[in-house]
Amino acid sequence: MERTLPISEEHVIFRESLRKFIAAEIIERYADWEQEGIIPREIWKKFGENGYLCPWASEEYAGSGADYLYSVIITEELSRAGVGSLFVPLHNDIVAPYIDSYGTAEQKARWLPGCVSGDIILAVAMTEPEAGSDLAAIKTTAVKKNGRWVLNGQKTFISNGILSDLVVVAARTGGADAPANQAISLFVVEREARGFSRGEPIKKIGLKAQDTAELFFDDCEIPGENLLGQEGMGFIYLMQKLQPERLICAVGAQAAAERCLEMTVEYAKERKLFGKPLSKFQNTQFVLAELAAEIAVGRSFVDDLIRAHMDGKSVMNETCMAKFWVTEMAKRVADRCLQIFGGYGYCTEYPISRFYLDARIQTIYAGTSEVMKLIIARFMGL
Ligand SMILES: Cc1cc2nc3c(=O)[nH]c(=O)nc-3n(C[C@H](O)[C@H](O)[C@H](O)COP(=O)(O)OP(=O)(O)OC[C@H]3O[C@@H](n4cnc5c(N)ncnc54)[C@H](O)[C@@H]3O)c2cc1C
Repeated sequence: MERTLPISEEHVIFRESLRKFIAAEIIERYADWEQEGIIPREIWKKFGENGYLCPWASEEYAGSGADYLYSVIITEELSRAGVGSLFVPLHNDIVAPYIDSYGTAEQKARWLPGCVSGDIILAVAMTEPEAGSDLAAIKTTAVKKNGRWVLNGQKTFISNGILSDLVVVAARTGGADAPANQAISLFVVEREARGFSRGEPIKKIGLKAQDTAELFFDDCEIPGENLLGQEGMGFIYLMQKLQPERLICAVGAQAAAERCLEMTVEYAKERKLFGKPLSKFQNTQFVLAELAAEIAVGRSFVDDLIRAHMDGKSVMNETCMAKFWVTEMAKRVADRCLQIFGGYGYCTEYPISRFYLDARIQTIYAGTSEVMKLIIARFMGL
């Protein structure tokens, strides 16, 4: 089915060159990075040099002023290649937009060019050991002293936690009992800030090359001007950015599901048993046909939302639906495709095994499926 998005020749060329870049620079070395639990910084620099970081940033900040489809292409190609540990979409489409939307001209000039070049790698730290889905319960505090902010607290599960040079941190500036939509602020904590430290990368069942880590703020002092936006508005800012955050998750999950199906169709045609190709068994055909139908439904929905988002429409409810449905679908697809690979699907040599493991997190982070359903129910007036 042809995509309904306004895809130009430039977009097609961009996708092709990115695909080649990923094949040349990443695929071969990726298994080593999975062993090491981290991706080398030099790869981020290469992404930057090739224009793959924050392509939407304005030329004033060394970006290309590119449209949202370029972000979509980057996310899709990383997902299709099965190298989801490289959290470029988090950097490009989740964290940098906080600086772009809420930063002062001075903050943008200071940080955005580095985000585009790859000299600055970004992370966002909301989750705490006792505050995941219930974000309003965060306990990390920020207190103003002599014109500087002093942060105390702990964050966990922070993607790019080790590599990041700048972390957008949500901290409580109002009292413990003040409502979250008035009491939380966002801060930019720089790598060298005094009192800022990181734990070891957290060992995970998937996304093995992703440097997810705990972060610690122990009387961590940052300059007064590292407050992002207005004091007390942090929770509102986080809510305002949920639409793009959830949309980009759905975009990645959809592309991964499509790639799983392609790989499985190929395998099923090649694998012979009982004297004929696996693809000739009715069960294989029924499973793959079911998955193809689910994937087609996801594709229409995701592309409609990409279009609506590009047109500046508010599709908050629908992006929650897509985050929920498409990530659950991608998980189902990876599982059922792996089954068709038989024992080989369970071996790390076969990429389907990585798609299966990496799909598992997608219904958990950026708001769990249960949280998505809560929001959808709220939109239904329930
Ligand atoms: C690999 C990875 C990367 C991550 N990256 C980041 C990052 O970069 N930055 C960041 O800030 N966070 C990050 N997170 C954290 C992630 O967003 C949280 O794990 C997620 O929001 C869930 O929070 P939790 O783990 O505390 O689970 P909990 O909130 O404890 O949820 C436990 C279970 O309860 C369910 N639940 C929650 N509320 C309800 C309810 N009202 N009704 C019924 N069931 C409910 C949940 O759906 C879940 O099944 C990451 C997590 C992982 C694992």
